[in-house]
Amino acid sequence: MEVNNCPCCGSDQREQPMTVVDHMVSQEPFTVSFCVSCGCGITSPRPDEIGPYYESPSYTSHQDQNSGLFGRLYGLARTFAAGQKLRLIKRASKKSKGSLLDYGCGVGVFSSRAERAGWHVDGIELSAEARRRAQEKLKTGRVATHRDELDATHTYDVVTLFHVLEHLDDPAEALAWIRARLNTGGALIVAVPNYESPDAQHYGPHWAAYDVPIHYWHFTKASINALARLTGWFVSEVCPMRMDTFYVSLLSEAYKTGSKNWLSAVYQGIKSNVLGGNSNASSLIYVLRKAS
Ligand SMILES: [Zn+2]
Repeated sequence: MEVNNCPCCGSDQREQPMTVVDHMVSQEPFTVSFCVSCGCGITSPRPDEIGPYYESPSYTSHQDQNSGLFGRLYGLARTFAAGQKLRLIKRASKKSKGSLLDYGCGVGVFSSRAERAGWHVDGIELSAEARRRAQEKLKTGRVATHRDELDATHTYDVVTLFHVLEHLDDPAEALAWIRARLNTGGALIVAVPNYESPDAQHYGPHWAAYDVPIHYWHFTKASINALARLTGWFVSEVCPMRMDTFYVSLLSEAYKTGSKNWLSAVYQGIKSNVLGGNSNASSLIYVLRKAS
């Protein structure tokens, strides 16, 4: 299907079309072009049936047992990141224990970490296998297939969208739904890849976090700010996800050169983290709050 309008600002004007190959599953080429107004990258046209494009044996966010060097690295980084995320939700909500909705919780690594720390955690996960594994890890929380299955009266202190927004058909509609479920003083935490980062610029169309066609959107700080304004939020803080830079650089190096050039990938990861500083990392976490 063709996508006409930018999900962040509504513009139908786009520029700089770029061909990006789906290296994970199909090896098919897709076109990403960029909104002239806010810079949001848009994968269009995209497949009518997206399910088959998720069917990669190495779709790591849906795995518990990670094999191979990349998989093991990803597993280590994910465990490390869960601790960082927990500290962030405590700081952003000013609560040591509260109520959390992990929207797109995958196999529940972060959800279960938060529950063990005393949070009430619900999750939403579309993948049946990932959902089953996440539910196994939670003692009291509920992992739903769709958000409509959650208790309609339950509200949350924190909602997290960790690498989820770029997969959603209608990001603005999701943010509006979350706004109605978030308690006063609460925080929405959104992590997405940032194609303006130095590693993305270095690898160009081979940058692994374009991840077409399952990433429908490719955000920038300007596009997240536009989307926030459109849906009644404001961005109160931006933080880097520095571990992501190394993982993405390793994959990108393989896509670009056909070989796993470790030294080059690690060099690019360090260089990108230094040049990108706190606000231009390979992936960024945005803390959003309700605009009054
Ligand atoms: Zn736009």
